[in-house]
Formats: sequence, structure tokens, C-alpha cells
Amino acid sequence: MSFVEDARWFTPPPTADVSDAPGSPGRVTLVGAGPGDPELLTLRAVKALRGARLVLYDHLVSKEVLRYVAEDADLIYVGKEASQHTLPQESIIDLMVRLARSGRSMVRLKGGDGFIFGRGGEEAQALADAGIGFEVVPGITAAQGAGACAGIPLTHRDHAATLVFATGHLRGENEVALDWEALARPRQTVVIYMGMGTLPVICEQLVRHGLPAGTPAALVEQASLPGQRCITGTLQDLPALAQQHRVRPPALIVVGEVVALQPQLMRGMQTTGV
Ligand code: SAH
Repeated sequence: MSFVEDARWFTPPPTADVSDAPGSPGRVTLVGAGPGDPELLTLRAVKALRGARLVLYDHLVSKEVLRYVAEDADLIYVGKEASQHTLPQESIIDLMVRLARSGRSMVRLKGGDGFIFGRGGEEAQALADAGIGFEVVPGITAAQGAGACAGIPLTHRDHAATLVFATGHLRGENEVALDWEALARPRQTVVIYMGMGTLPVICEQLVRHGLPAGTPAALVEQASLPGQRCITGTLQDLPALAQQHRVRPPALIVVGEVVALQPQLMRGMQTTGV
């Protein structure tokens, strides 16, 4: 093996020591676990998982990813599903702070990237306020996993010059608080996380704010996992297709002309050679 000894390409190793040091407060390594396939973990994530003595993990972290954690490490499930909160966010933060103050270092493991609809920002703020050292290891976010695994290039010079990630999560009483005008712009790809419960509202509002009803749209369920499915249609028929195919979370909604490239790319991805 040979190494490139060039400082321009040098990435400093993670500073956090995830093992426990008696007497000193613990450190937190916020790790993005990617969309599910363990091969989509970063090398830095694998290193942090292997070295961890304590891991707090979420609902969307796959069991294959957890295999990288040492057998004798402590694993704490603090997961959240839309309908079912194992621990409220404040309690998770409280637990992390207490554990760190008691001297335990930990990996806080979240699906995808912790800073993209993962509430990693809130946890990082709380750790900073509490004076607890932390480090952030990025993960491949679900949109990237879905694009790559389902054959949808999220941007494309001929079809989409802008890419927007949005959440379809309800805010208050049945209200999806999104800037519909901004989302309904042409030559743009919109990826909506946590949108399965509000899919009909999302499709209807995008059309009402100017996108043609025939705009290509897809649902990517369990991106990168063995159960991955990609259902393609248009803004008009996507809600019916979701019902017909019984699409369940975790799934992403992808809207934009790039979705029309999916069958061609998928054919190419399935070609085994000449
Ligand atoms: N931090 C995560 C997102 C958490 S929000 C990330 O960066 O990916 C949870 C939402 O992410 C789910 O409701 C779903 O919309 C999406 N999601 C996460 N994993 C997914 C997967 N493997 N396939 C499809 N969607 C996924």
C-alpha cells in the first residue's frame, strides 16, 4: 500500500476518544449511520462504532449497522417513530448530558445524516451549552441513498438546477408548514422526508402552486435496504399509487423531471455487462 504524503489531502483524525477516561467528563461522537446499507457508512463512522463503549441509537439505524458495535458495548435504544416516541427529545438530551457528566463517552448514532432532519443540531447545541465536548461524523442522507440506489440523479443539467430537501411532517393541527411557492418552482428537484402521512396534501399543494399535475414523482421506500422499492408516477396519481402498493415509512417523496430518468438509469444499473 502507498500513501500520498501531501498535506493538502490530509484529513485530521477524529479528536474524540470514545473510550472512557476515568475522572474526566465523557465526549459525544454524533455519527450519521447512512440510509441503512452498512456499506454506506463512512470509514470514520465505522471507526467510531468499533471504538465505542456506549451507543445511543435511533429507530432508523439498521441492525446491520449495529453489528459494527463491539459485543460488550452498551447499546441504548432511544428511537423515535412518527407515532411512537420511546424517549422525548428532551429526555434523550438529558440522558446524554448525564452520562457524559458521569464520565461516559458515547456514540450518538442517527439514521442518515444527523444534521439533516435528525435533530442533531439541537443535541449539539445542548452539548455545547452543557460544556460537553463532541464531534460530528456526517452520514449519507436518505435522499442521496435513494437517488443513488433507485437511479434518480437529484440534479441534472437538463432537468434540475436546484435541489430542495423539505419535511412533510405535520406542524400543529393538520398543517404542513411549507413554502409551497418555493417548492413549486420549475427546474428543481424536491425531496420530502417524513411525508408519507401527508402525501395527498403535498401533491395537491404543489399542483395548486403551479407545478403541472403530470410532473414526474416517485416514492422510494427503504432506500439502500434489501426491501427497497421505487414507485414512479406523477403528482396526480402518486397518492393512489402509494395506497395501491401499500408504501410504508421510511420512504421519501421525490418530485421533479429527474424522476423521468429513473427507468433508463435503472436498466443501466441492472445491466451485468456485454
Ligand atoms: N437524518 C435522516 C432523516 C431522518 S427523518 C437522514 O439524513 O436521512 C426520517 C425520514 O427520513 C423518514 O420518514 C424518511 O422520509 C426518510 N428516510 C430515512 N431513511 C430512509 C430510507 N432508507 N429510505 C427512504 N427514506 C428514508
